[in-house]
Amino acid sequence: MSDDDFISGSKPIGIERGEGVSLYTADGTEYLDAGASFACTPLGHSHPAVVDAVTTQVEDLTFVDSSFPVQSRADAYAAFVASTPDGLEQAWFCNSGTESNEAALKFARSATGNSKIIAATRSFHGRTMGSLAATWKDKYKEPYEPLVGDIEFVPYGDSEELAEAVDDETAAVILEPIQGEGGINVPPAGYLETARDCTEEVGAALVFDEVQTGMGRTGQMWACQNAGVTPDILTTAKGLGNGLPIGAVAVQDWIANGAASHNATFSGGPVVTAAVHATISTLVEEEWPAHAAEMGDYLTTELEAALGDDVREVRGEGLLIGLELKRGANRAARDLAMNHQVLALPAGRTVLRLLPPLVIDEAEADQLVTALTAVIGSDEES
Ligand SMILES: *Cc1c(COP(=O)(O)O)cnc(C)c1O
Repeated sequence: MSDDDFISGSKPIGIERGEGVSLYTADGTEYLDAGASFACTPLGHSHPAVVDAVTTQVEDLTFVDSSFPVQSRADAYAAFVASTPDGLEQAWFCNSGTESNEAALKFARSATGNSKIIAATRSFHGRTMGSLAATWKDKYKEPYEPLVGDIEFVPYGDSEELAEAVDDETAAVILEPIQGEGGINVPPAGYLETARDCTEEVGAALVFDEVQTGMGRTGQMWACQNAGVTPDILTTAKGLGNGLPIGAVAVQDWIANGAASHNATFSGGPVVTAAVHATISTLVEEEWPAHAAEMGDYLTTELEAALGDDVREVRGEGLLIGLELKRGANRAARDLAMNHQVLALPAGRTVLRLLPPLVIDEAEADQLVTALTAVIGSDEES
């Protein structure tokens, strides 16, 4: 099996159980999950608060369509809207990240009456036709062309090019506050503010895709709060239900008022919203975002000290960390998994991505640093 096949194919590691930051095979081998679950379990695997909420809900009422008010949806809605920056006062639930971006692009088009969407190089917004059109990598797009039209790409992080591209025909600018899949790219200071200013000026919608950056990972509930910039539309998914499939879109009133008809059968179902309510309540009440900031600083400092010249860069915010390696990230991820029982993800050819559950403690962080040092050090020698 090649390194590429190991990353994208079926891994020879059968997972049977999860608890906290750890995953276990049937024979009891423990793996430290430092990212392989794609940021989907901010509270750690099978967190009791989420398990209890979901178990109770699935027994009481597994599903009823969203035209009937149910308590779990109302609770999740209130908790989600309260967690977002002031100004984002209305929300809609869907089933995944790509669907949340799909909705965002539709809402922006109907609220503005325009069609042009501006996206960034190295972006990732999902794999359904609309979100895919706003995604950068040709490899994902080419087999399915033609995609949704009127999408223009500008270089991520370049304020001038962005301001120049936005005009009064623009419906939306869609950006990740920090790019995930594209390599954990942190934009220069002032970039998100520029995006805010130039969209406001022409009445276009600013969409922040927080599918990967959200749910406390960067030190606040939403990464845009670190920059102090509020978008018109915020999309999320991945960690929102701590492992259950749900996405959400939070919008400002002008977007909600201008949105045409859009819905989905499973929108805000009782079980998944019970998971959302339990996840957000626990994150907020137990202050896990602050812990993520602290552990992110600790991990980054330890990684820089241990790896020094062995990596080109350690970057990110909180527990969204990218290691720019001097060689292939797929090989490193495979070595980490097979020889050190540590699961991490590549983000592009040379970037290794660490997205551990927010509940990671110092001993687990040390274990991660030790494994990375062994693998990246030995890479250098081979
Ligand atoms: C994963 C991801 C998506 C797509 O989410 P799915 O639930 O896989 O559809 C969109 N945007 C970003 C930033 C992501 O990381």
